[in-house]
Amino acid sequence: MKEILRKNLDEVIWNIEQARVEVSEHHIVKLVAVGKYSDEESIKTLYELGQRAFGENQVQQLATRMQNLESLPLEWHMIGTLQSNKINKLIELRPVLFQALDSLKLAEALDKRLAEKNQKMNALLQINSANEESKSGVSVDEAIDIYAQIQEECSNINLKGVMSIGAHTDDTKEIQKSFEVTHNIYEKLKNSGASICSMGMSNDYELAIRCGSNLVRIGSQIFKKR
Ligand SMILES: *Cc1c(COP(=O)(O)O)cnc(C)c1O
Repeated sequence: MKEILRKNLDEVIWNIEQARVEVSEHHIVKLVAVGKYSDEESIKTLYELGQRAFGENQVQQLATRMQNLESLPLEWHMIGTLQSNKINKLIELRPVLFQALDSLKLAEALDKRLAEKNQKMNALLQINSANEESKSGVSVDEAIDIYAQIQEECSNINLKGVMSIGAHTDDTKEIQKSFEVTHNIYEKLKNSGASICSMGMSNDYELAIRCGSNLVRIGSQIFKKR
C-alpha cells in the first residue's frame, strides 16, 4: 500500500514540478491532498511520505479525521460547500483555510458567528467561473465587488484569494478558459492582498498550474490503489 501511495505521490509531485517551471522558476505551487475517497490509514501513510496539507469537503468527515489524526502535525483545509447549520462546527475546528466561501450571505453568517466566538478564519472566495448551475460560487461578474464587500463588512474573515473548480467538460479549451477567467480575477485582486489562486484537481491540475494556479487540490490521483 505504502509503495502505491509513494508512486502516486511522486508522480503528482513530478507533474506539478514540470508544469510550474513552465510558468516560472519562482512559481511555487502548494499541494493539498484530498482524502474524501480514502481512509485515515492512507492519510497517515502520506504523512510518512512527507505530505502535510490535507483537504476534506464535508465538515463531519473533517472533524472525525482531525480528531483521529490529532497526534500528527497536519494542516487541514475545508474545501467543500458549507451548509449554514455547520458553521459553528467548522469554526470549532479552526481549519487553516476554508476554500469554499461561495456567497456574500454565507460570509455574513460566518462573520457573525466568528465575532461571537472572538475568532478569525482564513478563506478563499469560490468563483463559478464557467457559470454552471451545478456549481456553487459567486458569478464572474460579481466576484470583485463581493470580494471587496466581504473585506469591508466581515472583519473576522481574512480573505486570502480565490478558488474555482474547472469547467465540467471534456473540452480542454473550455476548461482552460474557466481557469483563465479565475486567474484573471485573482490578478485583479492581488492589489487587495490576494495571494492564493486555488485551481486544479486530478484531471486538470497541470493545465490549471499553467494558467497560474498556485494551489492544487488532488484526491483520486494520489489515493488510487492501482
Ligand atoms: C473532491 C474534490 C477535489 C479532488 O478531486 P479529485 O478529482 O479526486 O482530485 C478537489 N476539490 C474539491 C472541491 C473537491 O470536492
